[in-house]
Amino acid sequence: MSREFHRYDVIVIGGGHAGTEAALASARAGARTLLLTHSIETVGAMSCNPAIGGIGKGHLVREIDALGGVMARAADAAGIQWRRLNASKGPAVRATRAQADRALYRAFIRRAVEHQPNLTVFQSAVDDLVIEPDGRGRDAVRGAITNTGLRFEAPAVVLTAGTFLAGKVHIGETQYAAGRMGDPPATTLALRLRERPFVVDRLKTGTPPRIDGRTLDYSVMQPQPGDDPRPVFSFMGSRDDHPPQVPCWITHTTERTHEVIRGALHRSPMYSGQIEGIGPRYCPSIEDKVVRFAEKASHQIFVEPEGLDVVEIYPNGISTSLPFDVQLELVRSITGFGNAHITRAGYAIEYDFFDPRGLKTSLETKAVSGLFFAGQINGTTGYEEAAAQGLLAGVNAARHVRGREPWSPRRDQAYLGVLVDDLITHGTSEPYRMFTSRAEYRLQLREDNADLRLTPVGRELGLVDDARWARFEARREAIARETSRLSGLWASPANAAGREAVAVLGIELSRENSALDLLRRPELDHARLVSLPAFAPDSPVDADVAEQVEIETRYAGYLQRQRDEIARAQRNEDTAIPAGFDYAQVRGLSAEAAQKLERVRPQTVGQAQRIPGMTPAAVSLLLVHLSRPG
Ligand code: FAD
Repeated sequence: MSREFHRYDVIVIGGGHAGTEAALASARAGARTLLLTHSIETVGAMSCNPAIGGIGKGHLVREIDALGGVMARAADAAGIQWRRLNASKGPAVRATRAQADRALYRAFIRRAVEHQPNLTVFQSAVDDLVIEPDGRGRDAVRGAITNTGLRFEAPAVVLTAGTFLAGKVHIGETQYAAGRMGDPPATTLALRLRERPFVVDRLKTGTPPRIDGRTLDYSVMQPQPGDDPRPVFSFMGSRDDHPPQVPCWITHTTERTHEVIRGALHRSPMYSGQIEGIGPRYCPSIEDKVVRFAEKASHQIFVEPEGLDVVEIYPNGISTSLPFDVQLELVRSITGFGNAHITRAGYAIEYDFFDPRGLKTSLETKAVSGLFFAGQINGTTGYEEAAAQGLLAGVNAARHVRGREPWSPRRDQAYLGVLVDDLITHGTSEPYRMFTSRAEYRLQLREDNADLRLTPVGRELGLVDDARWARFEARREAIARETSRLSGLWASPANAAGREAVAVLGIELSRENSALDLLRRPELDHARLVSLPAFAPDSPVDADVAEQVEIETRYAGYLQRQRDEIARAQRNEDTAIPAGFDYAQVRGLSAEAAQKLERVRPQTVGQAQRIPGMTPAAVSLLLVHLSRPG
């Protein structure tokens, strides 16, 4: 067979959420990329709930989009119920969530992958990686070998095997090897990787049974319509991209449900000790909720459609690995579910993941040059967390091949920076998901300004195409123009604009204010302000531009304080610690601090100071040592 069929710049293993973003980013960055995955049909498949976004997760989706990724556009093309969460709260925690049509979402991702220049797909299971000494005392990845013995070569490989590595499905006492229900596990690859110098452990996650929606009684449930107007995820998107919107429903477990669960706990693989892996704390199974919150008589369940053309619904809130007969009984005890027909059983899955402290900020493994890990295998849970890591690993794999410096955002630049820094500094003992509370600079890291934070760097990295760049520049200019226009318009108790403002807007005005100053007042928003003829623009201002001007003006004081804090912290953040640095040389450093540093091997002093238990004194000693000449 021809050489070009077997040789690439970058190989991505796995066509899930991390793998597709990795492959697309690598190809967009100019690397000849091969995506190797079990099945082309499952490219972009959603293993669990068909929903994208939510608090913290929506922020990641917008960041992926700002960097040219595909997730937001796929959600726009597949979203059948839309919510703007925390709409009445501060801008830092406002977030978008879309219930997606599973089939439309997958089709969009597959189309994006199939039409991406520089990207080739080959369907196959990968059983091993080719890893050889690089001649400089390190191991380097050279390619991958499939289960049929085909050998593909590349100087960079991104592994995104999700829940498939030594995956084991549990339903009650029954357990079998699988990557997720209906898909094969990656058993041989998991064994081969366990022979390598990676720290491997087990995690678990679970999913609820699916129900035929025609067998439910919606008259006893509470409808939950989507928002109108519907939000849009992508900075390139519009409402016209969305399919029709359908409602979700809310129902509840009953006393009977809890009785059924309590009576069957001894048959639960979680409680019988059959499952060793730790599950996601924030997405507990229904049996977990009944045990942990024993005082609660009922738990809320969101009844969510799986798509426009299918009858299945996803009962969000009853993930379970109880035996099937128990699942049937518990499902039928839920309000409105008396005649429910289960179409697929709920289950838990246990899988191998790698201690993310073995990764650099680029998501390259410290142990093997050119080998990158992304997604669920790094201890995270969720499509958005996986996709964000995939994009980062993909672009850095492409840069590695060209000998370019890796790129990764800092904690003050992106949730992606928070995610990676948390993982590589702290590791994780349970599936990690994103929350806004994880970001100390969350007022800077809003959904609404993800493009302003990241699209310029995405452009430099080769990830942002001309159309996106043109749209971005137009938006950035419109924001600057409107800010400057409003700062040049004045209202005083003596002038016409001021008198109009007092009369029409009902505000008090004791001195001269610019229109921008007036926007700082909580009772005024942009729309009201520009409704005054004196402040009206020549042409209408887009809602997203108005929102940006409003937020940046209203929170200017807080934002500036945060920027000053970031600038102070930046000094340590930029102080690099050489690879292979010997902590024993640092005079006065305690054995405990040295051990902690040795364990994580931080790349910068900033990362070192975030290691749990690291004292300011230890950080100063390190800084003093590093600042010494020679
Ligand atoms: P995946 O989406 O799993 O994709 C992995 C891809 O790699 C697949 O295409 C697979 O075929 C391919 N692959 C694997 N090994 C090989 C190989 N050796 N050769 C070739 N191809 C390979 N997330 C939540 O946020 N909340 C939840 O409650 C939740 N519950 C879940 C329940 C279940 C049962 C499962 C399975 C997942 C659940 N998830 C949940 C997790 C969510 O599905 C993942 O976070 C997300 O899919 C991870 O994306 P990924 O790209 O890392 O991996």
